[in-house]
Order: sequence, then structure tokens, then C-alpha cells
Amino acid sequence: MTTPTDSTNCLFCRIVAGELPADVVASSDNVIAFRDIDPQAPVHVLVVPRAHYGDVAQVAAGDADLLAEMVSLADQVAGTLADGQFRLIFNSGPRAGQSVFHVHAHVIAGEQLGWSPA
Ligand code: C5P
Repeated sequence: MTTPTDSTNCLFCRIVAGELPADVVASSDNVIAFRDIDPQAPVHVLVVPRAHYGDVAQVAAGDADLLAEMVSLADQVAGTLADGQFRLIFNSGPRAGQSVFHVHAHVIAGEQLGWSPA
């Protein structure tokens, strides 16, 4: 779906640029990972491409290699901060709970997870 997206005044673009603080736990050439400020699990990290895409469908269509790099960094984070097992969540659109319109994957790990998240 198309979501409201604009790199102007984008919160995560400003974190990527170092203009706002974040607890960065990992990075790769095109992606950074930082702890969520409102963690929902012992490990709750956001994996964010440095380039601005609005949602997961846009990054998949625009740069599939970048999406793969995001998943790879998520796996690395889960292996470093937890036992390597993780849930990866992309909220896509306001009705799905997306509140920041710069694509990000939530890496949830560090405990036995229940189901369903809805
Ligand atoms: O999927 P959604 O867009 O709702 O996720 C945004 C996430 O960004 C939230 O989990 C929120 O806690 C997090 N956040 C953050 N640092 C900020 C602003 C929001 O980690 N400065």
C-alpha cells in the first residue's frame, strides 16, 4: 500500500543522520539497528535502512537487496543480543499500527513469545 512518506522532517532519517540520539546496536553499509525507546520485549530493536522508504512494500519494490540486508542485520542482532531466535514485524500502514513512515523492522526476541500479536 502507499503510505504517507516524506524524508523531510522524518524522525528516522534524522536518527540515521546523527541529528537525534539513538542506542545503535549494529549497523551495515546501508542499514542501522537501534533499540526501541518503548521496548515490548527484553530485546526490541528497530532495523532501519539509511535511505528513506515509506514501508516494506516500497523497499521491496525499490531495492530488494536492501530488504535482504535488513533481514540479515536483524538476524545478526538476534544472535548478538539474544539466542538467535526472533520475530520480525513490519507494521505497514496506520491501521496496522505503523506510526513512523520510514520503513523499519521490529526485532522482538529474548523471551518465549506468545501468539497472536494482534
Ligand atoms: O511500527 P511503528 O511505526 O508503530 O513503530 C515505531 C516505533 O518507533 C515504536 O515502537 C516506537 O516506540 C519507536 N520509536 C523509537 N524512537 C523514537 C520514536 C519512536 O524507538 N524516537
